[in-house]
Amino acid sequence: MEENRGIWVFIEVTDGKVEGVSLELLGAGRKLADKLEVPLAGVLLGHDVRKISAKVIEYGADIVYMADHAVLELYRTEAFMKAVVAMAEKYKPEIFLYGATPNGKDLASAVATDLSTGLTADTTMLDVDPEKRLLEASRPAFGGNIMATILCKKHRPQMATVRPKVMKALEPDASRKGEVIEEEIHLEESEMRTKVLQIVKETTKTANLAEAHVIVAGGKGMGDKNGFMLIHELAKTIGATVGGTRDVVEAGWLPHDQQIGQTGETVTPKIYFAIGISGAIQHVVGMKNSELIIAINKDPDAPIFDVATYGLVGDAFEIVPQLIEKFKELIK
Ligand code: FAD
Repeated sequence: MEENRGIWVFIEVTDGKVEGVSLELLGAGRKLADKLEVPLAGVLLGHDVRKISAKVIEYGADIVYMADHAVLELYRTEAFMKAVVAMAEKYKPEIFLYGATPNGKDLASAVATDLSTGLTADTTMLDVDPEKRLLEASRPAFGGNIMATILCKKHRPQMATVRPKVMKALEPDASRKGEVIEEEIHLEESEMRTKVLQIVKETTKTANLAEAHVIVAGGKGMGDKNGFMLIHELAKTIGATVGGTRDVVEAGWLPHDQQIGQTGETVTPKIYFAIGISGAIQHVVGMKNSELIIAINKDPDAPIFDVATYGLVGDAFEIVPQLIEKFKELIK
């Protein structure tokens, strides 16, 4: 374990573009690396990915470990795992972070098994104890009632998958300098047990929610499906996307892909309206990083006010129609 040094971030590339979560992890990894006084490295795999290494450095990496190979063109567990494990065994990182995306989760679990180390899944907070050099990976546990901080004391690297949109990417700095180390990985297409025949992309409303600049979210406080129509009306007036709590989804007022929170989407819009939402931790983890949060609730002690930028205490059925009217006037 003494030999393991340095923070690594898996750089996920889709259609030639770095996934946002990888850039966010470079931001989070930078803080950990500075605290431990070690380099931050991005692990970049793919085909024709050389040009991407500059971006990885701009977003905070000191080193890019790169494997450029035709077999790595599209994600496959076996090929990516072999490449990552070979690099990790050679360079021995102490911490290795992955985005909690379908491919990131798949790869991290395969690598953890092969390296016989621990993995914390779906982390929402990261810190490090510089004395003990232990990664403190926190995530909601026991039905979201507590935040558990998970340590990996006896194995290296310490690994975690981290939810997209929870960490903040650094501002890119084109003047940053870094080293690109190209690795020769032995991979043969004929040895691969799986082939990607076709990628079928699903287009759901979830994408809208993740990319939305303004979200109007409603909770059980809207009374019933009819009352929830006010949320739709406000959203339509200001060109926002509608979201809701799990209770609203369970009541059948919204489809599941519009649920925000621990078991739904994580969102970071510029403006988030939380209307008739109590602010349970499982909801808050999915929206607390919104730039501006406007909460409307008739209970002045509702926990949503703890994370709100502006709080309006009152009946949504009185306040929201007035807001709609005012916005309509302004937009006219
Ligand atoms: P309530 O908690 O019932 O809150 C309604 C609020 O509306 C109250 O604060 C009330 O004061 C206010 N109100 C009532 N009438 C009015 C009115 N006329 N005007 C203004 N305000 C009014 N929840 C999620 O949202 N997302 C998740 O992903 C999620 N995952 C979960 C995972 C697990 C494992 C568990 C156990 C729970 C999860 N939950 C999740 C559920 C979560 O714990 C809460 O139950 C849920 O968020 C509460 O939804 P709510 O705020 O709509 O309802």
